[in-house]
Amino acid sequence: MDEYHFNEPEPLINLIKALKRLPGIGIRSARRIAYHLMQYDLDGAGFLSKSLSDAVASLRHCVSCNGFSETELCFTCASDFRDKRLLCIVENPSDQNSVESSHGYKGLYYVLMGRVSPLDGVGPKELNFQKIFDRVHAGNVEEVIIATGFTAEGETTAQFLIDMFSSANIKTSRLARGVPAGSELEYIDAGTIAWALIDRKIIN
Ligand SMILES: [Zn+2]
Repeated sequence: MDEYHFNEPEPLINLIKALKRLPGIGIRSARRIAYHLMQYDLDGAGFLSKSLSDAVASLRHCVSCNGFSETELCFTCASDFRDKRLLCIVENPSDQNSVESSHGYKGLYYVLMGRVSPLDGVGPKELNFQKIFDRVHAGNVEEVIIATGFTAEGETTAQFLIDMFSSANIKTSRLARGVPAGSELEYIDAGTIAWALIDRKIIN
């Protein structure tokens, strides 16, 4: 409890604790944000609080792509303008946004919402690979494009997916190596992703 001051009321400590859960936010930043909101920006604090509770209450996973959606089928999956023969598998919604920003892809997506990480106990079962497999079989998917990151865990995830699809004779490709090794997709510029899509390597 040393990181909290004796003169900090409990609601303030709880707010700091909540903010500290955010990625990249340590105790000092969490305290600075909490004090800032309470001292200078109560409107902003109210907006943050409402947006957060609304998001928690209304966001769900699209039944088709597993991405975030307000409705059963997300905007992308429901669109008539997407090429339903292509399915791009990404780790996170932010990676999907990166691929979209490249303007080089008009197919559909599947969002894993994570990646295979044996040390954290996350394997194909936890990521529900069976659902992806069923999704590919149910639709008229002609090619699966694996766009997991080029980190060690992203590569492991890709390999599991490649093995799964190649044993079922499904055409599978992987983003080209224009993307630097060790990279998370969300930090790569749109141009590089566009080229990596065009140069994608057919594996199976
Ligand atoms: Zn969807």
